[in-house]
Amino acid sequence: MDASEAVKRFNEYLKSHQHKLTKQRALITEIFFDPDKRSEHPTVEELYLRVKERDRNVGHATIYRTLKLLIEAGLAVPNRIGEGLTRYEPEIPGEHHDHMICDRCGLIVEFEDEEIERLQEEIAKKLGFSLLDHSMNLVGSPQEPCQRPDCLNQGS
Ligand SMILES: [Zn+2]
Ligand SMILES: [Zn+2]
Repeated sequence: MDASEAVKRFNEYLKSHQHKLTKQRALITEIFFDPDKRSEHPTVEELYLRVKERDRNVGHATIYRTLKLLIEAGLAVPNRIGEGLTRYEPEIPGEHHDHMICDRCGLIVEFEDEEIERLQEEIAKKLGFSLLDHSMNLVGSPQEPCQRPDCLNQGS
């Protein structure tokens, strides 16, 4: 799903709920779904800074409210990662991944593992549930210097 498709879907959701797709909401959605930055998992503040580069009049409250609407529309998911800040990421239908996180700088590496997915299904089943969703965040210290140059984890 590309950014324009996401904006289109958001518009449909807003219309059916008596909301409007304002220019700012469209811009926020476009930036949030930017394919180059999709794995960034921005906080409200980080998304605000990115949007502000394109529209200086946008405020924190608008970012926050738009994210909330995107979540309601099934286009975004909040995820508490590591340091306790809520980070947000686009919800792409049919796509799933888990997170490996650097304990120092919060760098997020996305991964997908069939074996783990299968095991989770099994565990849920054993416990008498049918699995609907899960989120997994692994936290670790990188063995090689962290990919982020300003990180204090420079290998051990
Ligand atoms: Zn790091
Ligand atoms: Zn992710």
